[in-house]
Amino acid sequence: MNRKTLIVANWKMNLNVSQSSLLMHRLDKKIVSHHNIEIVIAPSMLALQPLSKEINHQKFSLACQNAYFKDEGAFTGEVSFSMLNGLVNYGIVGHSARRIYFHESLEEVRDKVKAAVRNDIVPILCIGETKPERLADETSQVLHDQLTSAIYHLTSDEVSKIVIAYEPIWAISTFDGEQSKPADMQHALKFIRHQIEDLHGYDVAKEVRILYGGSVDSHDILAYLSLEDCDGVLVGAASLNYEQFSTIVQKAYTLKYSKE
Ligand code: PEP
Repeated sequence: MNRKTLIVANWKMNLNVSQSSLLMHRLDKKIVSHHNIEIVIAPSMLALQPLSKEINHQKFSLACQNAYFKDEGAFTGEVSFSMLNGLVNYGIVGHSARRIYFHESLEEVRDKVKAAVRNDIVPILCIGETKPERLADETSQVLHDQLTSAIYHLTSDEVSKIVIAYEPIWAISTFDGEQSKPADMQHALKFIRHQIEDLHGYDVAKEVRILYGGSVDSHDILAYLSLEDCDGVLVGAASLNYEQFSTIVQKAYTLKYSKE
């Protein structure tokens, strides 16, 4: 199974509209299109519309970092997945910053995954354990709970198209930013694929793309991408630096190319 490598840049709440355009322009100059690598940029909500007009859609896709699960109504301040339909291909759902700072529950994450799918937006579902949970040997339980609850309402066909990002919270730069050992991450990635196989069968499990996220940069990208069950990366801090991010893409391409 040749799952297309996915590299996602999560700019978080950084860069205003003109700064976003400038970074996009620099990335466009540095990055060459690769048929077997997909590059997704998740800027702020405000920058999505202008960037959608500026980017080379052959090279880049856009993602929202969040959206509300209702399609419309009196939900002041929210933007729905239905409003983002046509503007983004992907939507990050259940990022740890949202679960921790905005207290997003398992049910809300589940409803957002469903809303994204309903509106033809591929959810990038983020799941991962905290440091205390890891130390208590609860990683598998946490991943199981976050995954199974989030995809509960999806059909097998819908599950086969979603993206799952394994992001151990302790490794994300916003939180502890502890350096993970790439080889130690394979266990969790495989566990996630097995969970999908248990629920939806082997054919679905082998289609699903599973990413790793947690302070990935241009130095360790190859170690993560070389893991058997790693189909790409979700990059936060390093994606704000065009040299770093374009090197990440270039290295991903070199690895993929060497396997062809
Ligand atoms: C993230 O926010 O999803 C992330 C992986 O961030 P960082 O790379 O900065 O740890």
